[in-house]
Amino acid sequence: MPTAFDKLEKFLKLEQSQGFHNRAVIGGFDGFADFWRNEALRETQDPARIRRIHEMADLLLGYADLDAAGRGSIVGTILGQLTPDTEERALRQPPLQKPGVAPAQPPTAAPAQPPAPAPSAAPPVAAAPAAAVPAERPGTGLEAPVTTLPGVSTAYTARLRRLGIETVGDLLFHFPHRYDDYSSLKPIDQLEYGDETTIIGTIWETRTRTSRGGREIITSVIADASGTIEAVWFNQPYLARQLRAGRRIVLSGKVDEYLGRLIFQSPVWEPVERELIHTARLVPVYPLTRGITSRWLRRLLKRVVDYWTPRLKDYMPDAVRQRAKLITLNTAVRQIHFPDSEEAAMEARRRLSFDEFFFIQVGMMRQRHEWQSQAATPVDTRPELLDAFLQSLPYRLTAAQRRCVDQILGDMAQPRPMSRLLQGDVGSGKTVVATAGMLMAVAAGRQAALMAPTEILAEQHYRTITAVLADPAPLGLDRPISVALLTGSLGRVERKEVYTALAAGQTDIVIGTHALIQKHVTFRDLALAVVDEQHRFGVEQRGILRSKGDSPHLLVMSATPIPRSLALTVYGDLDLSVIDELPPGRDEIETRWLLPRERERAYTFLRSQVQAGRQAFILYPLIEESDKVEARAAVEEYERLQRDIFPDLTLGLMHGKLKGKEKDAIMASFRGGEIDILVSTSVIEVGIDVPNATIMLVEGADRFGLAQLHQFRGRVGRGQYRSYCLLLSDAVSPDDPQTRTTWERLTAIEETQDGFVLAEKDLELRGPGDFFGVRQSGLPELRLASLSNVSILEQARAEAQTLFREDPFLSKPEHAPLAEQVARFWKKAGDVS
Ligand code: ADP
Ligand code: MG
Repeated sequence: MPTAFDKLEKFLKLEQSQGFHNRAVIGGFDGFADFWRNEALRETQDPARIRRIHEMADLLLGYADLDAAGRGSIVGTILGQLTPDTEERALRQPPLQKPGVAPAQPPTAAPAQPPAPAPSAAPPVAAAPAAAVPAERPGTGLEAPVTTLPGVSTAYTARLRRLGIETVGDLLFHFPHRYDDYSSLKPIDQLEYGDETTIIGTIWETRTRTSRGGREIITSVIADASGTIEAVWFNQPYLARQLRAGRRIVLSGKVDEYLGRLIFQSPVWEPVERELIHTARLVPVYPLTRGITSRWLRRLLKRVVDYWTPRLKDYMPDAVRQRAKLITLNTAVRQIHFPDSEEAAMEARRRLSFDEFFFIQVGMMRQRHEWQSQAATPVDTRPELLDAFLQSLPYRLTAAQRRCVDQILGDMAQPRPMSRLLQGDVGSGKTVVATAGMLMAVAAGRQAALMAPTEILAEQHYRTITAVLADPAPLGLDRPISVALLTGSLGRVERKEVYTALAAGQTDIVIGTHALIQKHVTFRDLALAVVDEQHRFGVEQRGILRSKGDSPHLLVMSATPIPRSLALTVYGDLDLSVIDELPPGRDEIETRWLLPRERERAYTFLRSQVQAGRQAFILYPLIEESDKVEARAAVEEYERLQRDIFPDLTLGLMHGKLKGKEKDAIMASFRGGEIDILVSTSVIEVGIDVPNATIMLVEGADRFGLAQLHQFRGRVGRGQYRSYCLLLSDAVSPDDPQTRTTWERLTAIEETQDGFVLAEKDLELRGPGDFFGVRQSGLPELRLASLSNVSILEQARAEAQTLFREDPFLSKPEHAPLAEQVARFWKKAGDVS
């Protein structure tokens, strides 16, 4: 009598010879799988063989959904393991790989095998942040390309790549973004319209008919002890074979109504006999892409999770895990995909978020440690010079500014390089604080550089700094300090001159844009590098500027008020100085959010301010993703305003398409008071300082984020006059889900002036991904961890510090897996120095 294995082999060979149309067995291989499983199980008691049977049967589930190549690979895999002479080997072979690839085994184990596919040439395998595995070589184990998995054809490989999945490890760490809760079972007679629920029943009958529109409609009647209900599916002809009468199934979905009766429309279902993946549980919902269905992905993941989770080695040291009360890696990975309960899913999420924070912290601390273990030349503070400088200013520093100056000069006097973030709300006076540091560098006979994100801002800094440092007399210096401006709009000849003077040490301070980090720029002796509005620069750009000197001191400045949790993470490698008070006499900037019909009133008010001698900004949003369009909107509006609204006033126009020289000229006349109203795009977002400007009118305010609006507002209220910020926006409403967050944003900015409060609000409204400059910060992508989850973040930080004190380079053998994991995590972020 043929055994179950013989039968399976026969059918699979038939299928192969017919070209994988899923016709070799009646009803298709999905249905056959369960039938065969039961039959085969009756023939044996051997646990290894039983496991084998389940694995083979599982491979066949979902067969109908596959394309021919996928089917071919499944059939090939099973056949490869069925032939008698290979059966022994098959029993030993880990099940999840196609025959050609022996996972995680020495190459000698499989002499006759074709070579493993080359690891994909496409970049990093590092996409799996936490792919912890026993020793592997590329091409096997978690590093193996997904093509080694049965059922993953070339077509699927391409689709998976769109999801960032290239290796088995990537797949294992492709987490669901939510779950459908189908864990509640209901008897059929208690179903109500709108329920999202699960039933278990027996199929009474299944009919197929074709609608007039040519759609194939499959209807099944399902019964349990309490009653019956119909379920319908469209255009899935193979279902007719799978949903045969008598079969017990679990079915989950939303209860709908059709012609007065309750029905299920296109519910998910699966046979009762097997472990449930798609129904009657918390069902994982994954990020998908075209050509990959939830069902297909879930099934694939179920196999990968089943196979891999027992084999995952936990890289987290036991002590850390116990102190932080974390579940093991393998439980976490299993539960995040197929949770037993809400609580289990939450615990899994907590563990895996902890890991992400932990990796970031360890990486940041190491960064800082490495940087600071280099030697820097100390820059001595000269108290008499500092005093003279402070005396020469037209105002007194606030206490907060003074404290920050002391911190910075204190750092610079150390024999290791400073890495400091100077944070202070818009208008808090960061420039002068940085200037004190630059002055000390110059007084020590060395050089300083200040990099700003826009030409307008660089030019403004150039002017302010030249003004405060130009005269050597009050500072008691024997020669004037030489300050140079370096931007992209300098002519070739001028630029060469700046290069030469810098290299020769004739220039003491250089202020510029990205032009500063071009390769021709060299310093004789750069002692201090300052980066203004640092969130506008990538980590890499900071690094380049720094590399222009021999371990120079680094000061980065940001007006972005960052919530503490975020600062600790994003800037974990920096010390923090905060200017937490504004210069005296700054009134609140009155902020009003207006509807479009109030525009005329806004213009009238603006005119009255100009008549009182003040100046104004009118700002237009980026309308489309192109500078051109943005510029045009501003140009058109400028013309309209000048012609129709303010014919008697002088308007200026500023946008990103203007040449550097033109921008300078316009800023100069605005600053000089020749222009009453500056019509602009968001190029003036950062830094601009014109104390006589008292009105900021923002058009299309709903298009800007909170941080940006706060920055715009910061352009006024910088002098002694009462200032106003008017926000114009189309109707938004708290009741309309589309505009709700806009409404909250505009309300928030209207109600508070405190940048930190707004930052917290922004984090809450937008989530960390969008938050301020985080995307550009060079931080690796967080898959699970939310930066707003402060308690996990702080716990991870504390643990990372403890570990770091004990073993800063993770060089102890027991920390090797962790070290590897951290490296993998950071590889994605590139060099972060
Ligand atoms: P930000 O921190 O936004 O970069 P700035 O450095 O541009 O701020 O300073 C904003 C304005 O405040 C400038 O006009 C500057 O001269 C002025 N300022 C700075 N510090 C003080 C102070 N202690 N008292 C009064 N005005 C100050
Ligand atoms: Mg500034």
